[in-house]
Amino acid sequence: MLLTPHILVGVAIITKVQNPILGLIFVLLSHYALDFFPHTEYDIKTIRAKQWDKSGPDFLKVFLDIFIGLVIVFFTTGYSPLILTAATVSLFPDGLTLFYCIFPTNGLFKKHLEMHGAINTVCENKKIPAVLGIASQAAIVALAIFFL
Ligand SMILES: [Zn+2]
Repeated sequence: MLLTPHILVGVAIITKVQNPILGLIFVLLSHYALDFFPHTEYDIKTIRAKQWDKSGPDFLKVFLDIFIGLVIVFFTTGYSPLILTAATVSLFPDGLTLFYCIFPTNGLFKKHLEMHGAINTVCENKKIPAVLGIASQAAIVALAIFFL
């Protein structure tokens, strides 16, 4: 799933759950739950292939994706330490995947990658048209903004 929906759902959750610790646990779990939804993603082939010298455009896509999410958060809820923590936690599983690309021998990162990959494979196996994969995320973004 794109990073903007992860951020917005995570922030929506943290604004609704009274207990911040419980809220952050729900935010983390929301990442995996959202990855089950049928979704279309942009390519980050050069990052996955560790072609760091060619990975500038792929990193730009990732940063733009995060930036858009944070701009929407800024205009809907504003920032607080808890909101920014929730946004970070919402992206944590994808961050671990990036760490695996950098440290491929780390067993913990590898185990997480396998689990995270398995969840995303459930989605990939659904073979939906790209337009639906984008529409599903637009719907999630709209729903999250509604709750912000
Ligand atoms: Zn993910």
